[in-house]
Amino acid sequence: MEFSSRARQRHTRLAGDRRDPYPHSLQFYQEPPTESISLAEFESFAVDRLRLLKVVENLGVSHVRSSDLYKTKLEAEFRRLKFPYRALAEDDYDARRKDHISHFILRLAYCQSEELRRWFLQQEMDLFRYRFNELTEGLRQKFLEHVNLQFEAISEDLKNELANELSASTPGFTMTKVKEQMFYKVGLSDAVDLFRARRVFIKDGFAFVPLKDIDAIVLNNYRQKLSKALALTARSLPSIQSDERLQPLLNHLSHSYVGPDYSAQKNTGKISLEHIDALSVKSFPLCMRQLHRALRDNHHLRHGGRMQYGLFLKGIGLTLEQALEFWKKEFIRGKVDADKFDKGYAYSIRHSYGKEGKRTDYTPYSCMKIIMSNPPSQGDYHGCPFRHSEPELLKQKLQSYKIPPSGIAQILDLVKGMHYQLACQKYFELTHDLDDIGFSLNHPNQYFAESQKLLTGGRELKKEPSHLGNSQQKSNSQESMTSTSTPSSSNTTADAELEGLEAYFTED
Ligand code: SF4
Repeated sequence: MEFSSRARQRHTRLAGDRRDPYPHSLQFYQEPPTESISLAEFESFAVDRLRLLKVVENLGVSHVRSSDLYKTKLEAEFRRLKFPYRALAEDDYDARRKDHISHFILRLAYCQSEELRRWFLQQEMDLFRYRFNELTEGLRQKFLEHVNLQFEAISEDLKNELANELSASTPGFTMTKVKEQMFYKVGLSDAVDLFRARRVFIKDGFAFVPLKDIDAIVLNNYRQKLSKALALTARSLPSIQSDERLQPLLNHLSHSYVGPDYSAQKNTGKISLEHIDALSVKSFPLCMRQLHRALRDNHHLRHGGRMQYGLFLKGIGLTLEQALEFWKKEFIRGKVDADKFDKGYAYSIRHSYGKEGKRTDYTPYSCMKIIMSNPPSQGDYHGCPFRHSEPELLKQKLQSYKIPPSGIAQILDLVKGMHYQLACQKYFELTHDLDDIGFSLNHPNQYFAESQKLLTGGRELKKEPSHLGNSQQKSNSQESMTSTSTPSSSNTTADAELEGLEAYFTED
């Protein structure tokens, strides 16, 4: 794939050759794209696929994958983002091209660590499963031929000969059902999952698989290919990292947050310092609640915590003057005297508000940035508690916040599956008495804005909050503190600049 910084060009092709590179709406993504694309297109394709994969993750946890609701919601997302979702009209070249290129871009971005690879693989598998199951019988057959997965159907004679064994080894298959369905002879390596689950009859090194289980074989084959491809791509990372146009984009994508950047302007001044304790209980996500508590208890936060919490507070509306007052009051209750604060810490706070140095207006960290970078060490309180806390400690913390045991179990299950943001969504639902959060959580400031919207009447509460410290009265001054930032698909510049800012926060 080559990149051009020119504006996007329309890819004109003759009608006859439009389908050539993409004869099917579904792909195994075996050949990387070779055409030139603009950097703008590169980024927009990648961001759209990331949105799609995040929806896949969200739906996979909240709905049964085979349910109608899951399918309807996913199909709506495919349509909205213009990805091919089933056998569309012949002329869906643009959608197939976008599907192909965007997959390879995210493959580059998400091959960079074991954790990223696992997340990407899981979502791509779910995506593939949905699309494969949506194909008509005829198109499935064509797709399998296209990817060289043709399985030999066994003859009626052989099936009758093996009928007893097939019925005994294939769950749910009575003798009558065996007679009705086609069985395929498949190499053992292609049927590992069925073999492990003892769901298939094995003879002479072959698995005899009913038609209905062929999708498991295809998925397993796809998983193997993609997993291998990700490992191979990871090995070529050094050459990718040397491309100065590409690397920042890929890094950004793997830490990506797709949505508003929650820069402060619209909220600035709409919060009062006296409300912060109450807000931290009812409207802060767990990461910020933890930082606030640590600051109040220790009268100090190390630089990772000051960065994460300071920018969050800026995003919810603290003015520079308020921030200086807030941090100073707390720090001088600890070991830092006023003079030291004014000479050191005050500079960094002014810097984060764009009043020193390059005068960059820094934006708060997204969940992905918090989850994926700068893990906390001993004595740190920053990071994402769902990602960085030991499960037992997390459990204790949730118990102390009076989350019911069943809710804690659900959260811990999500954490175990590495769905940290979904665990946070569940925490939001439990602390706001909601059945369904109704949005996809990507940012601590989004958490705050949605909570405030809910608590101050921007949206109907299902019922009155009954626990978890939500008993404080609502403050009129919070009413306009909803998300008002303009959408931005890229925080690349801000992220790069933040690295520079971090240098100013090196004091412990
Ligand atoms: Fe904070 Fe995001 Fe983790 Fe929630 S998921 S605790 S908002 S970093």
